[in-house]
Amino acid sequence: MQSPDPQKLCIHTITTKGWSLEEALDQYLAHGVKGISVWQNAIEEMGAKKAGELLASYDIEVVSYVRGGFFPSSSKEKREEALAHNRQMIEDAAAIGAPLLVLVCGAEPQQSLEESRAQIEAGIEQLLPFAREHKVKLGIEPLHPMYADTRSAINTLKQGNDIAERLEDEYVGVVVDVYHLWWEENLKAEILRAGQKDNLLAYHICDWKYPPEDMLNDRGLMGDGCIPLAKIRSWVEEAGFTGFHEVEVFSHRYWAMDQEAYLKKIIDAYHTKS
Ligand code: ZN
Repeated sequence: MQSPDPQKLCIHTITTKGWSLEEALDQYLAHGVKGISVWQNAIEEMGAKKAGELLASYDIEVVSYVRGGFFPSSSKEKREEALAHNRQMIEDAAAIGAPLLVLVCGAEPQQSLEESRAQIEAGIEQLLPFAREHKVKLGIEPLHPMYADTRSAINTLKQGNDIAERLEDEYVGVVVDVYHLWWEENLKAEILRAGQKDNLLAYHICDWKYPPEDMLNDRGLMGDGCIPLAKIRSWVEEAGFTGFHEVEVFSHRYWAMDQEAYLKKIIDAYHTKS
């Protein structure tokens, strides 16, 4: 198996959460990282406009803005609020120069998953004209089923592909995150399907430690766990995806480390374990 393209490494700011946006930019650039994905918390203080100016002053590509979504609710008013919030997120993504807003679609435990999925699809459909106007694509990121109660009713790439294909719009597609999808039956076929329909918008990498000690913040770095990363990457490449490989690791353990030493570890893991 060939090593991944060194030019395609992107890091999510949440991965090095202890750094401000400016520190992350300085460090990523100093270590040759070519892409950055921005979490909302990283720009909260300065606001999207200023963050956009800061990002534009660096020679680094803004790959995505994270995250919109959370569409379902049994209350119509709350669903309207969610749409308004997503419009704001689309505006902010445009302001920071991100071509993609990643969607964590949401779920409402008081109603069925099917109902939540229908509300997600309706929500995305309503946002599409606004997304097009701002030239920001919407990426449906399926989440591992352990999050199906409150975080996402979209739990397989098949479900994400189904919605993207029904909406059939160049401004909506899917995000493949290995943490959420490594277990899925027919994953290869679904990745190829997404590529064939031009719906494969982003690729997120990390690893699944066994067992995770925390549902949210104990992800592994590539090589720490049991995800067949090289195999999944070969499918993503076979699907025609040429975008960045985004390292997204939520980890109390790694956040506690010296972040520059951690960055070097991330870069090494990207080259040798992904
Ligand atoms: Zn992700």
